Amino acid sequence: MPVQIRRPDRRECERCGRIEEWSDEADAWRLADGPGDVYCIHEWDINGTFLPIEGTDE
Ligand SMILES: [Zn+2]
Repeated sequence: MPVQIRRPDRRECERCGRIEEWSDEADAWRLADGPGDVYCIHEWDINGTFLPIEGTDE
């Protein structure tokens, strides 16, 4: 089994449905599907619980 890298490459706003994808080249999020609500304070579905790498023992 390869090391499970849990870096998200996609995130969706739970409020307005805006979807963004991670660009390695730009090192930034990019809009993937519709701008959503520009006035929305986006509530990304990966907030809070994200861990960069799974299975570290330290
Ligand atoms: Zn939003």
